[in-house]
Amino acid sequence: PVVLGVESSCDETGFGIVSEGTLLGQGLASSAAQHAEFGGVVPEIAARAHLAAAVPTLRIALADAGVELSDITHVAATSGPGLATAVHVGLAAAKSLAWSLDVPLYGVHHLAGHAAADTLEHGPLPERSIVLIVSGGHTSILHVGDLVLDPIEHLGDTLDDAAGEAFDKVSRLLGLGYPGGPAISRAAAGGDPQAFAFPRALLRQGDAPYTFSFSGLKTAVARTVEKIERAGEAVPVTDIAASFEQAVVDVLVTKSLRAVADRGLSTLVIVGGVAANARLREVAARRCAEQGVELRIPPPRLCTDNGAMIAAVGDLLVRAGSEPSGLGIAADPSAVLHGAQLPLLR
Ligand code: ATP
Ligand code: MG
Ligand code: FE
Repeated sequence: PVVLGVESSCDETGFGIVSEGTLLGQGLASSAAQHAEFGGVVPEIAARAHLAAAVPTLRIALADAGVELSDITHVAATSGPGLATAVHVGLAAAKSLAWSLDVPLYGVHHLAGHAAADTLEHGPLPERSIVLIVSGGHTSILHVGDLVLDPIEHLGDTLDDAAGEAFDKVSRLLGLGYPGGPAISRAAAGGDPQAFAFPRALLRQGDAPYTFSFSGLKTAVARTVEKIERAGEAVPVTDIAASFEQAVVDVLVTKSLRAVADRGLSTLVIVGGVAANARLREVAARRCAEQGVELRIPPPRLCTDNGAMIAAVGDLLVRAGSEPSGLGIAADPSAVLHGAQLPLLR
């Protein structure tokens, strides 16, 4: 199979081409700059940007892969979760392509895409692993077997903000702009991660072991900034960014490694936009090495949203012999993340 993947769930327009687990090429456009002045993604602007970027970005992907449109044997597209207006554009484009090429269409769960991204870099997942999904909308610890064939065991989630959302909100309150993750990361590189003792929620014995909460951390950062400003002092943005980042990373790594140990596993996979974070990658690498756990994290460009990860799921589905979704498939903007058959949305 030569599978074309289409991603449009948020502000990235992505096309990727994958064959037998190998990434042949991809094209990626982002409307992030157009949302910056609003401090977050504006769905209508994102949808218009997808419409404008779709064909040029597909052309880039085809050229990058060195294949013709007529070489595509299957199309896979994010059908949820995501911003409804944004998902519609990519899914409609994917339907048009599948229909005109007369090839099968697969609706793909965006989060399965994040997980599958890692297989493009490190090969098939082991028989079982713990997958930490940390993105703009999700913070989940999953116990995963075969991505296509096995049901996913959902161990825990965030009670409030997602990890990426916390980065975005704290970035806004520090005046560092949108998107917040990369901005915080840049600022944090020059700061002291121990300057402020921000809270690590739900880490005590007896707390829900795999559940996260980041809204208290965000509030603690806000209070700290207010107090410093009231005192008429300069806000130490780099130290606050570094201390905030360290607090998030400590909790993410501690809880994921706990899940690995509790299940008697030996592999931790970290995926989603926040997995691009340098401190998270560094701390996870150190602590996994200490505990003899194999750590898999896709390269940063495959952590944030892209079309290659959706093509990767499509390629897995095709090779597993899954039934295509068909051209009647609807978008499922609030698709949930549990149960069997995670990757395929009908
Ligand atoms: P979801 O995948 O849950 O539907 P999404 O698709 O919007 O949400 P992703 O594209 O996976 O999310 O990730 C975007 C998030 O990742 C944003 O919140 C962004 O701030 C964060 N992020 C990106 N790069 C970094 C980084 N270097 N450090 C920390 N966070 C980052
Ligand atoms: Mg984005
Ligand atoms: Fe995403």
